[in-house]
Amino acid sequence: MNLILLGPPGAGKGTQAQHLVETRGMIQLSTGDMLRAAKDSGTEMGRVVAEVMARGDLVTDEIVIGLIRERLQGETGGGVIFDGFPRTLAQADALEALLAEQGKTLDAVIELRVDDETLVRRIVGRAREAAAAGQPVRADDNEEAVRHRLMEYYKKTAPLIGYYHAKGLLVSVDGLGAIEEVRAAIAAVLDK
Ligand code: ADP
Repeated sequence: MNLILLGPPGAGKGTQAQHLVETRGMIQLSTGDMLRAAKDSGTEMGRVVAEVMARGDLVTDEIVIGLIRERLQGETGGGVIFDGFPRTLAQADALEALLAEQGKTLDAVIELRVDDETLVRRIVGRAREAAAAGQPVRADDNEEAVRHRLMEYYKKTAPLIGYYHAKGLLVSVDGLGAIEEVRAAIAAVLDK
């Protein structure tokens, strides 16, 4: 079972992916996490990526597709959850080609639906809590960058909703409920 979790920043993709990893033995491929690791690597690529991410812009397709290609190679386990990838139509096409090369298929795309004001509130609130506890805060978790990330989502990523709907793979889930309710809705889709 290979699955995409699709949705705007703050929709809960990472939280839900983590639960699927724990309960279903799937692996999570988060391009956001991979890019943050690249950012901390001290390379020139890392420096450029850090600037792009801090603004809330998307990193180039070439970079993220390269990261996913590397990580998918030799992946044989109990299925992959793509979290934060693909984010553009070009990335979606590349993913299809990568999976086909390995004889794999994409089984479902779950869209988590959450309204903008809730997203901004969640992300900015999370950043405030982290700061109050002396924990590191992401450079892109301030209100300005969050609103820019949302705009990027609607311009470049939301077209994937129609793309996967046309392929018969899309299921939309209400992401506004409690974490457990969203979990249950996702489980219902996967166990169908
Ligand atoms: P969120 O979903 O909360 O925005 P992520 O950790 O998924 O958080 O992504 C953080 C940032 O990393 C994005 O704003 C973007 O700059 C970059 N990024 C992550 N995944 C991709 C991707 N697939 N394509 C381009 N940029 C990406």
